[in-house]
Amino acid sequence: MKQDVIIVGAGLAGLSAAVHLHRQGRKVLILEASDRAGGRVKTDSKDGFLFDQGFQVLLTAYPETQALLNYKDLKLKKMLPGATVLYNGGQFEIADPFRRPSAAFATLFAPVGSLKDKINTLWLKIRLQKLSIDEIFKQPEQTTQKQLNEYGFSPKMIQRFYAPFLSGIFLENELTTSRRMFDFVMKMFSDGDVAVPELGMEEIPKQLLAMLPPNSILCNNSVTSIDSNKVTLADGTIYEADQILLATNANSLTQHFVPKQKMSSNQVTNIYFEANEAPTKKAVVVLNASLNKKWVNNLTVMTNVSKAYAPKGKILISISYNGIPEINDATLAENMKQELKQWYGEKVNNWKMLKSYRIEYALPTQESVRNNIEASEIKITDHLFICGDNLLNGSINAAMKTGRLAAEAMKI
Ligand SMILES: Cc1cc2nc3c(=O)[nH]c(=O)nc-3n(C[C@H](O)[C@H](O)[C@H](O)COP(=O)(O)OP(=O)(O)OC[C@H]3O[C@@H](n4cnc5c(N)ncnc54)[C@H](O)[C@@H]3O)c2cc1C
Repeated sequence: MKQDVIIVGAGLAGLSAAVHLHRQGRKVLILEASDRAGGRVKTDSKDGFLFDQGFQVLLTAYPETQALLNYKDLKLKKMLPGATVLYNGGQFEIADPFRRPSAAFATLFAPVGSLKDKINTLWLKIRLQKLSIDEIFKQPEQTTQKQLNEYGFSPKMIQRFYAPFLSGIFLENELTTSRRMFDFVMKMFSDGDVAVPELGMEEIPKQLLAMLPPNSILCNNSVTSIDSNKVTLADGTIYEADQILLATNANSLTQHFVPKQKMSSNQVTNIYFEANEAPTKKAVVVLNASLNKKWVNNLTVMTNVSKAYAPKGKILISISYNGIPEINDATLAENMKQELKQWYGEKVNNWKMLKSYRIEYALPTQESVRNNIEASEIKITDHLFICGDNLLNGSINAAMKTGRLAAEAMKI
């Protein structure tokens, strides 16, 4: 079966490449191993609840999503800028004073850091507004932890805000992720909103797929090998194509074509609970900054962000733990509840675990990241090209950018 272009993998990278290639007039066939498009951005539904496969958000300032997605049709539901921070002895709100002036006063006096820390945060925001994304990614690399020290933030500010906040984004607790990623993410937070589509994160890949002609994708078709311009499926079927784009995650087929270090990943475990009463009324991420934190990194009441995440009158809470624990889900869920008791009291006893996700490859490790790639690196042979977040950095923006760049490199 001879095709024009075959794309292996229907994550956001493969889907964006498909959309760009389709716009060039190319005929695209996507072969996807799983039951549907989306890759790491999927939403399961059960009994009227929506479960994103791991807590995940769209930063609306991402240039690639702005260029390709229709935000209005996604019916984006915004989260409040800032966070609620749980610490030994209480909780407080930290807000972006530029974007939520009403919360500025509370932020200024929150027990999170010194006045110098707040001035530093403001200075950082202004600095990042002036820097372009390309300039951010040209800065010397060092760990985020070192960079925070260099920016002059106090240990208290780092421990009570930046560490829990960033560990929920980078999915690692030591903040070894490159400072380029820190600056990039902070710029995105500062320039736009944090949101989820009303009906869950999978609305993003669904929208991309809808931009393609019908029958552009074959699901449940795992590619086992690629040889010259031929791909072989697990059932032995062979497809031939003028060009093949390899858009799988780094630890799948792509591992034969990308540098070894990008195989390593940050992992996360996500547990969903149903509750009778929400622990907070706000559409905000709740960070655990307590000194003895063990099982809860961050928590979000998803139904505060979008009511559609649960049947009418029900409450859905998402809690993340960085890594994959050795204990089973039921024990982890119980430990999470026990840990949260000091802030939410006996009410947590009524929380019922509904679903869990243990995600081994959530993000490529990010000690070294970039935001651009030469066409010569995308083109492996005359027939074979690659894309995927692992080539740049672990983000929706990067995945979609590599898809666009691959489509450009494949232009004939
Ligand atoms: C829990 C979690 C939280 C995250 N949080 C955020 C966030 O808040 N903001 C953000 O910007 N990013 C976030 N990310 C990162 C973002 O989701 C990824 O960077 C992006 O989705 C990667 O897309 P991709 O297309 O490169 O790879 P993938 O989504 O991994 O796509 C690869 C596809 O290839 C398919 N495949 C693999 N092997 C084969 C084969 N042999 N044959 C056929 N198909 C195959 C897979 O099934 C998959 O569909 C998060 C990720 C996770 C998991």
